[in-house]
Amino acid sequence: MAKPWWKRALDSGHYARRGHSAEYIWAEGFVPAATTNFTESNRSPADIDRVVIHITGGVNISSAVSTFATSENANRTSSHYVVGQDGEVYQMVKEKDRAHHAGSSANRRSIGIEHGASNRSGESPTDIQYWSSAVLVRYLCNKYAIPLDRTHILGHQEIATTNHNCPGPNWDWAGYMQKIRLCHHFTSLPLPVML
Ligand SMILES: [Zn+2]
Repeated sequence: MAKPWWKRALDSGHYARRGHSAEYIWAEGFVPAATTNFTESNRSPADIDRVVIHITGGVNISSAVSTFATSENANRTSSHYVVGQDGEVYQMVKEKDRAHHAGSSANRRSIGIEHGASNRSGESPTDIQYWSSAVLVRYLCNKYAIPLDRTHILGHQEIATTNHNCPGPNWDWAGYMQKIRLCHHFTSLPLPVML
């Protein structure tokens, strides 16, 4: 069977395909998670007040995307968004639906974002990945009126009942939060007045 477009795009490093149904306009595409891997839901904006940050455990997001996309995923996991090391973003679950990423009570109120990175040396998140994720988080926080702070933007390990090293010690929280706030400040700047 021929590879699906998103698999070819990921493998080739070419992410130009657009014209998709992602809610986030800067996403490269919407790659639907298998229906077994998320819970269809009709969350209203008021139901969503958290963003949960994850790392996949490897730099290549292709395997995470494949895992979320197949009904053979025994853990039935998914996330709303996946961000790669080159800053590419794929949406996999609609924001109104509950992705399976952080335990059922957290899933009910949050948006989950996976990042292709690990805690091994040389597999840290990249600068462009942090920036791309920051722009995405700023979009989500603006859309759902989520405060830009560490009470509402959390790591998986901070809410997990079992110990997860996710996103773990390689994740630069201070720098990441600074980028999110800079995105917010930049977006809120008034337009220059031309005289
Ligand atoms: Zn996680």
